[in-house]
Amino acid sequence: ASGYTLLRDPHHNKGLSFTEKERDAHYLRGLLPPAIVSQALQEKKVMHNLRKYQVPLQRYMAMMDLQERNERLFYKLLIDNVEELLPVVYTPTVGEACQKYGSILRRPQGLYISLKEKGKILEVLKNWPKKSIQVIVVTDGERILGLGDLGCQGMGIPVGKLALYTALGGIRPSVCLPVTIDVGTNNEQLLKDEFYIGLRQRRATGQEYSELLHEFMCAVKQNYGEKVLIQFEDFANHNAFELLAKYGTTHLVFNDDIQGTASVVLAGVVAALKLVGGTLAEQTFLFLGAGEAGTGIAELIALEMSKQTKAPLEETRKKIWLVDSKGLIVSSRKESLQHFKKHWAHEHEPVKTLLDAVKAIKPTMLIGSSGVGQTFTKEVVEAMASFNERPVIFALSNPTSQSECTAEEAYSWTKGRAIFASGSPFDPVECNGKVFVPGQSNNAYIFPGFGLGLVISGAIRVHDDMLLASSEALAGQVAEENFEKGLIYPPFSNIRKISAEIAANVAAKAYDLGLATRLPRPANLVKYAESCMYSPVYRSYR
Ligand code: NAP
Ligand code: MN
Repeated sequence: ASGYTLLRDPHHNKGLSFTEKERDAHYLRGLLPPAIVSQALQEKKVMHNLRKYQVPLQRYMAMMDLQERNERLFYKLLIDNVEELLPVVYTPTVGEACQKYGSILRRPQGLYISLKEKGKILEVLKNWPKKSIQVIVVTDGERILGLGDLGCQGMGIPVGKLALYTALGGIRPSVCLPVTIDVGTNNEQLLKDEFYIGLRQRRATGQEYSELLHEFMCAVKQNYGEKVLIQFEDFANHNAFELLAKYGTTHLVFNDDIQGTASVVLAGVVAALKLVGGTLAEQTFLFLGAGEAGTGIAELIALEMSKQTKAPLEETRKKIWLVDSKGLIVSSRKESLQHFKKHWAHEHEPVKTLLDAVKAIKPTMLIGSSGVGQTFTKEVVEAMASFNERPVIFALSNPTSQSECTAEEAYSWTKGRAIFASGSPFDPVECNGKVFVPGQSNNAYIFPGFGLGLVISGAIRVHDDMLLASSEALAGQVAEENFEKGLIYPPFSNIRKISAEIAANVAAKAYDLGLATRLPRPANLVKYAESCMYSPVYRSYR
């Protein structure tokens, strides 16, 4: 290949880091200025340039440009500056990027599969330049973060999630495939937007929808085999639960919103017990939002309680209450409830508002998963603080605009007694002369390591015990010094180590359950996981 082509190939391009020998051997003479710089200096320069942008979306676009220009440098930056860059390539900025995707899109990333490709999906997969794929993140764009239906523009999410698979979990970028399934959108604004990039029609549903999804699932298995991980992301709940159940027995599938979120929140809950005292089974939980995240978390907490106490699930579920858009979920509503809410319809008189539910249930932990911002009002938070010495509050909804309350509100309304974590990041807060560091309760802690564990063990199915295993590994990574600051999650700066621990625990579970195909089982799974992780350091070309 010519040097000119090499410089335009993001997988191999090193820019000014090509050595004299490489410049000779690969026809690069004259195509580069004479200076030869290290990857570290390139990193310093790009970070310096990025920090000059005041507008988050500009930083996002600069990062996407870098990914298309020099992939290794992109990952080097992301890994070395994870706390600074996570909010750029992920929540909250990725949300704004999706909303404006049509206008900011330059070179398309990922694979678009629309109704137009019906009957040809296998051929479409073959158009992708890489033949061997290990992880797919797929969305249909119907429930992007807490921003609703963004149709085809949801592509920003699979692209962002897979960047984290590589940066945080060490999965090689060449084996990652972002996919957006476009069956239309019901977002009127996008349908009218001249820059909209998707099919200009309302969403296909029913048979037309499930046939396209089925063709996709079959084509993926046919083309990449049984061990490819398919992560469902940001599907609306009327499809998400069904897809997970339907393909859970035939494919290696994982729904991040239901399962990944459950695992990360359980880890935070278990860690919070160190600060609150008592056992898991002694807690009472109240959720605002009974969709994928809410019921997924509730189910995993109930499962862990049941394992710890040997009580049946039907019993442990009674410690957990959920509020949806119609109020507290109670048994008198059972007939009209969606199937995923039925387990949570306990005996109680009807309660309309969250505040009344908090007063009636007196939860020790309050979890927001409704996608609606500012719902943890001063009254709600004060009520929590009135009967809990250390009220535990999770404001999980993303992006920041949809957060149930801010970190500052949680700390100031409880006079610093709250243990707070949120889906999107908040800066540390000073309250009564003390600095509180809010934790980020985001599934980004889980899915990269979880996926790595599945990949390195050659797992063929996901099992709930693997979710418990990843929670346990994550909770185990919270250090004394973190707890002292009120943190119930370890800092993201340690994420590669954390991911290796999670991967090892998940892989161990896969072996124990007989779901692993990579034999023999490595003796030290943490070391093995670490040795499998992608490094973004430049390679030398001979
Ligand atoms: P979902 O399946 O659509 O569920 C939303 C739930 O919230 C539904 O039960 C809905 O009630 C309820 N709800 C909506 N408006 C409400 C209101 N005003 N008052 C009370 N309840 C209300 O969505 P999801 O997948 O669970 O996601 C929800 C949010 O969690 C999103 O913002 C998402 O970004 C966030 N999330 C965060 C993470 C993380 O890692 N931190 C992970 C996943 C999701 P009905 O059932 O009555 O309609
Ligand atoms: Mn999601």
